[in-house]
Amino acid sequence: MTFNVGVIRGDGIGPEIVTEAVKVLDAIGAKYGHEFKYTEILMGGCSIDACGEPLTDDAIKAALSSDAVLMGSIGGNTSTSPWYKLPADKRPEAGLLKLRKSLNLFANLRPAYLYEELKEACPLRDDIIGDGFDMMIMRELTGGLYFGERSTVEEDGQLVARDSLTYSEGEIRRIAKRGFDIAMKRRKKVTSVDKANVLDSSRLWRKIVEEVAKDYPEVEYEHMLVDNCAMQLVKNPRQFDVILTENMFGDILSDEASMVTGSIGMLSSASLNDTKFGLYEPSGGSAPDIAGKGIANPIATILSAAMMLRYSFDLDAEANAIEKAVKLVLKDGYRTIDIMPRDGSTVKQVGTVEMGDLIVERL
Ligand code: NAD
Repeated sequence: MTFNVGVIRGDGIGPEIVTEAVKVLDAIGAKYGHEFKYTEILMGGCSIDACGEPLTDDAIKAALSSDAVLMGSIGGNTSTSPWYKLPADKRPEAGLLKLRKSLNLFANLRPAYLYEELKEACPLRDDIIGDGFDMMIMRELTGGLYFGERSTVEEDGQLVARDSLTYSEGEIRRIAKRGFDIAMKRRKKVTSVDKANVLDSSRLWRKIVEEVAKDYPEVEYEHMLVDNCAMQLVKNPRQFDVILTENMFGDILSDEASMVTGSIGMLSSASLNDTKFGLYEPSGGSAPDIAGKGIANPIATILSAAMMLRYSFDLDAEANAIEKAVKLVLKDGYRTIDIMPRDGSTVKQVGTVEMGDLIVERL
């Protein structure tokens, strides 16, 4: 089959790590008989330099006409780069916000997976880690507190600030469906996280999730209060498969979950809308401190490409093959600088391109 992939290389380490992910996709294409056609899309600082704005209408059109978009990262050093002297809506990050909005990307997925070989990076105790954990945080991305009405006004001689948290049935239903769909591709368990003992929006969340769950009899589901979930993530992370939650809770819990794996260069992410379309990118940023040195870890971007195969193209076997190849490379003792053990004795340090080549070899 032929798939049209929009490619945003972006800034900093973006072009280096995307090149490796494209290399892996091409290897998958050759092995399984698919063709990936790439359309280069400018976004971020590179687009400011070339076109005077972080995301042009043509770039949005190119993204919209792709089957999915693979992205590196955007932005520069926020203290020294001239991009950050521009007004906020002209800076690199404004391009990403505009793209997410234009594509209606309401579902954000961030896996938190602990590799056996990288256990030493995990800050949790060995008896808690056990044989590792593998969870997916599914965060609603375009509603809730971050998108509600806000105001700061003077009342009775003092300032009063208000932020409103609104969710409609439709917004909850579409993210809940996505969460259960994804659980069906995994271990078939959903933990829906809310604050239903206090918030009306959470009580509606719970009601709609229960309705959606009826359509997925194979999926085991439970409700959990967000404060308890924050605790359970460090007490017993192995209990989770898919964590389904609203925007602000998801923002906080996904950072917590990713940090218990201990390694930003390994973490992929996806943002989806209600079609098969998705934007796939590493969780980390453009790492201007190491850009151009050939040492960035390309694994998060390569794993994001695997998510693209699974969630936008339904190519599960191909996605599994990439994930297995990554595990084999780690098992064989190869590490980029960010995942080197402290003593460095038992493993071999490799650069960005070599890491990509090693993964392709194992495919
Ligand atoms: P960052 O994630 O870029 O870097 C934090 C640290 O992690 C740095 O030391 C960096 O070298 C390291 N790191 C990150 N990715 C790595 C990789 N793949 N391999 C090895 N090491 C890696 O965060 P920051 O320094 O706060 O931000 C830098 C720029 O990135 C800023 O302009 C920020 O706005 C932007 N940013 C972009 C995105 C995005 O494109 N979605 C996300 C976050 C930050």
